[in-house]
Amino acid sequence: MYQDKKEQLKKLQLEMTKRLESLKKDLSRGYSSDSEEQALERENDEVAEDLRGETEQELIQINEALSRIEKGEYGICKSCGNTINPKRLEVLPYSTLCINCAEAVA
Ligand SMILES: [Zn+2]
Repeated sequence: MYQDKKEQLKKLQLEMTKRLESLKKDLSRGYSSDSEEQALERENDEVAEDLRGETEQELIQINEALSRIEKGEYGICKSCGNTINPKRLEVLPYSTLCINCAEAVA
């Protein structure tokens, strides 16, 4: 059960891990000595920093979803225990909350 989701999640996990690595690489390079260029680089870094945070969050959710598949809890809302709409899982395979609970959080 959920074999296809598992594969989808593994693929996503790999993608996110790679993205995270390249973002970290971007963020660790030094700044240019030119002040105008440096301003631009810092701006880019802010974007990269945001993206890194998002990617890290996604990766956490992906890992959680994978372990929920192992435990047979996948597709069940971790907040209310209701079944998560399969359509929602198609769009967001690492979702651990049903639409109602996700909206309540947001
Ligand atoms: Zn729920």
